[in-house]
Amino acid sequence: MSMIQLLYVSYADKEMPEEELDRILETCVRRNSPNSLTGMLLYSHGTFMQVLEGEEAAVTETYDRICQDPRHHNIQLLAKSPLEQRNFPNWAMGFRRLNPSDSATNVHYAPFFSEGFDTSKIGAQDTVALDILKYFAENE
Ligand code: FAD
Repeated sequence: MSMIQLLYVSYADKEMPEEELDRILETCVRRNSPNSLTGMLLYSHGTFMQVLEGEEAAVTETYDRICQDPRHHNIQLLAKSPLEQRNFPNWAMGFRRLNPSDSATNVHYAPFFSEGFDTSKIGAQDTVALDILKYFAENE
């Protein structure tokens, strides 16, 4: 079976309180672990950016479920591509809520997240979405 990587950006229905983000993360870990799905989820100013990695069927089935979740909308697929080696092998789902101090310390990436993830900026650069997700996974 072949592995794929899928990235998307979406918009929360409202500014998400910590408890709501915790509940989403708990579901991610509970559902992804048995399916050997790994990845990273970032939240910034009412927007999400997530990468999912694993067997194609498991990624697709999970993404379809995520797309039907009423907690977010305007889900924009950034990339879906074959994957040889996982980028986030240790995370059933890593998570980071980005805040103003992240913008101050990451001037290179800040334009892409400081006012929420904006696909018109992120989509214009090939690898920037994955670079940002990897950066925050490695600097957890
Ligand atoms: P439950 O968690 O028991 O939820 C049952 C149903 O209620 C689902 O349809 C759910 O969408 C809905 N629901 C739950 N809480 C609320 C709420 N507070 N308001 C409105 N509706 C609600 N799931 C994964 O498996 N893997 C992931 O990596 C993943 N990433 C996610 C990323 C984001 C940004 C979001 C918003 C959700 C993500 N989810 C993920 C959750 C996913 O969308 C489904 O909700 C979940 O997979 C369903 O799990 P469950 O069947 O155990 O249902």
